[in-house]
Amino acid sequence: MTLTGNMRIDGDRLWDALMEMAKIGPGVRGGNNRQTLTDEDAEGRALFQKWCEDAGMTMGVDQMGNMFFRREGTDPDALPVYVGSHLDTQPTGGKYDGVLGVLGGLEIVRTLNDLNIKTRHPIVVVNWTNEEGTRFAPAMLASGVFAGMHEQDWAYDREDAEGKKFGDELNRIGWRGDEEVGDRKMHAFYELHIEQGPILEAEEKDIGVVTHGQGLWWLQVTLTGKDAHTGSTPMPMRRNAGLGMARIADLVHEIAMSHQPEAVGAIGHCDFHPNSRNVIPGKVVFTIDIRSPHRDVLDGMKARIEAEAPKIAHDLGLEIEIEEAGHFDPVAFDENCVTSVRNAAERLGYSHRNLVSGAGHDACWINRVAPTGMVMCPCVDGLSHNEDEDISPEWARAGADVLFHAVVETAQIVE
Ligand SMILES: [Zn+2]
Repeated sequence: MTLTGNMRIDGDRLWDALMEMAKIGPGVRGGNNRQTLTDEDAEGRALFQKWCEDAGMTMGVDQMGNMFFRREGTDPDALPVYVGSHLDTQPTGGKYDGVLGVLGGLEIVRTLNDLNIKTRHPIVVVNWTNEEGTRFAPAMLASGVFAGMHEQDWAYDREDAEGKKFGDELNRIGWRGDEEVGDRKMHAFYELHIEQGPILEAEEKDIGVVTHGQGLWWLQVTLTGKDAHTGSTPMPMRRNAGLGMARIADLVHEIAMSHQPEAVGAIGHCDFHPNSRNVIPGKVVFTIDIRSPHRDVLDGMKARIEAEAPKIAHDLGLEIEIEEAGHFDPVAFDENCVTSVRNAAERLGYSHRNLVSGAGHDACWINRVAPTGMVMCPCVDGLSHNEDEDISPEWARAGADVLFHAVVETAQIVE
């Protein structure tokens, strides 16, 4: 048996599963509040477990609560192809962010069962714990421990706003497993996710073939001038830190615009001192956020800021301090996995374009330990982390179809 364009997942069944899961931890405006390691998270996990076991899969759970459901392959020596995302949501989250990727993985196995297809490699459907990072920062915590980015004990000590610890809450809801985190070896990993941006919908494309994830630098800048009366200080005698901030904001914008279409940059947070209506600000502290999927571009953007912002400050009689406040390396997804996703969209007749993921995903960490690919589908107005987050059943179906073909091609049909 070979993979042909008429092999499709069951879009109605996938949609029913999405609606059924959305009943657990309902939000206040039609979305979801199923935050990690809450009772609602436990209830969602139990439902997912039941569905997976009904589909003939066997469960493994690691010490971070990551859930793995395995459908056997025919070759006992072949590493599994992993597929999944996360079931946890923001406090006022949508029904699809993360959930689509987990239930899309389940739908793949259900479809393989329907079509009586065996694969050489096993297929493992994953639910990663605490992707969102709202209750316990940082985001992508458990996939980060899996990929060796964080220590497990450090993760267990993360506290929520009430001072409750991640490790204690994981025990409380009964989902701390025995497996050593990160012990599993993967042949490949695929994640389906809503875009969380406006490009696919605006261009009327069915599928985003994710080639890269944005790398970022956060820089904290402190400009120091002199507080002075806004009415009585002559213009040539001012040391206005607010004006310095405004000119640096313009510089950041210009630098990002010079690396289109992929680079972005902005000043997201700013504190004016003393922040008074009739005082020239003597001190401004702000953060610059710059992103690019290419390391050389990203580092070049940072170098330009570090070279040109001090000149702006100097010209205005300001002192400047620039500190590194955060960094993520750009992610280049595996070429073979990216090609499998693109080929899948072609074979199925879906329109597609390459995309750079602007948000972080579990796939970005797993890409460090296994060949990884991502599929995206559109979402209405690019909206997510919002109860109004919305997708159409057709978009979900197309995304899961492409996921199915990419995973099954990688896992290799044997009969
Ligand atoms: Zn997500």
